[in-house]
Amino acid sequence: MPPPSTDSLILTFEDARRVVEQHSSKATPGEVETVDLLHSAGRVLAEPIAADRDIPPFPRSTRDGYAVRASDLAKLPAKLKVIGEIKAGPPPSLVLPALNRGETFSIMTGAPVPQGADAVVMVEYTSQQGCSVEITKGITPAENIVAQGAEAKRGDLLVEPGTLLSEVAIALAASVGKSKLKVFVRPRVAILTTGDEIVAIDAEPGPAQIRNSNTYSLAVQVQQAGGDPVFLSIAPDEPRRLRQLIEEGLQSDLLIMTGGVSMGRYDLLEQVLAELQAEFFFTGAKIQPGKPVVFGRCPRGEDALAREGASAPGSGPNSRTYFFGLPGNPVSTMVTFELFARPMLEALAGMSPRPLTFLHAQLKSEIRVKTGLTRFLPAIVSGKYEASQVELVPWQGSGDIAAQSRANCYIVIPPAREHILAGEWVAVMPR
Ligand code: AMP
Ligand code: MG
Repeated sequence: MPPPSTDSLILTFEDARRVVEQHSSKATPGEVETVDLLHSAGRVLAEPIAADRDIPPFPRSTRDGYAVRASDLAKLPAKLKVIGEIKAGPPPSLVLPALNRGETFSIMTGAPVPQGADAVVMVEYTSQQGCSVEITKGITPAENIVAQGAEAKRGDLLVEPGTLLSEVAIALAASVGKSKLKVFVRPRVAILTTGDEIVAIDAEPGPAQIRNSNTYSLAVQVQQAGGDPVFLSIAPDEPRRLRQLIEEGLQSDLLIMTGGVSMGRYDLLEQVLAELQAEFFFTGAKIQPGKPVVFGRCPRGEDALAREGASAPGSGPNSRTYFFGLPGNPVSTMVTFELFARPMLEALAGMSPRPLTFLHAQLKSEIRVKTGLTRFLPAIVSGKYEASQVELVPWQGSGDIAAQSRANCYIVIPPAREHILAGEWVAVMPR
């Protein structure tokens, strides 16, 4: 079968991204498993985490100082009678008397504010002599107190299912006493690298051979996006073996291939996928780097299933596997993964959709490009927070991993721009 007619399937960046997002929104995550809280970082939450009691559970002092009635400090300096001390974690048996006019408790950060007090004066504005304290600064009610339940009420949802677990979500889980969490099982992502010139990194490369770095960068990106990489053998530019390996890769939850998607005579990926009855959603995006990127879905294939000893494919959407064909140039591979493969993988991992994040910085030196492509060019952002500056990293094109390693972001150039002046504010995508 000839490769599909591809011209109409070359989309703008926005359209290509939208297509991926539409398909991602229909992707379903896999099974749920339970993990220890300490092993949950980077996993995707599969249950809601709710507050098991009010947070804070009592009106909490946020300062070391004196719990007062604000109205007692109308005239300054004010002299109040110290009737006791409250530290953080007072014994449960301690019953504090309510504060009357003219009285105060010395109180520590994190301690419960007693009844009758409505503010805490910082110790810096006080001086205590015996049972009397002089206060030199007035205060408004509620100052330096977080009211009971102000952060969350008992039963409130704190972390939604679909959240990628970070130290913040894990702190919330810990704060409500959850030592184990339900998370989604990581989707398996087959990585298939193609090219006659590509050799394994532990082999001695011939003079015109290239070590396989894409499998390694992709494995890291896959893990960061919540997937579990499955490594396939390197595919030669030969249709039969390529087809076998693609069929093997289609048994995973997602197949990511690199190389073989350009216009060269030995770029066979689309042809082989078409033979396997693949649907193509796009076969190119108007971007640089990464123009030949391919996205589609392909039946798992009964031959392959039989070979794998797996059950026969059903007729539902799960009998087809989404795939990406990413260009082989290493920087293109990295960029197209971020722009297109990541949202699909995150969805398969159970994550709620996350938009791309763009920041802005001032361009250090002018940029001239041709119009027509959205460009994501490796760059370095630097400078103070109120004056971030950004400049392109000099590079030899999308094969230049060394240049990419000196970059910490991409400058994003819209397709209509051809001359951007030094000093202009440009969009920057962090890396
Ligand atoms: P292709 O997309 O197959 O035309 O490959 C484009 C360029 O990327 C060629 O220079 C390849 O040698 C290089 N390349 C392809 N695959 C890999 C890989 N797995 N690791 C490193 N470089 C690669
Ligand atoms: Mg190739």
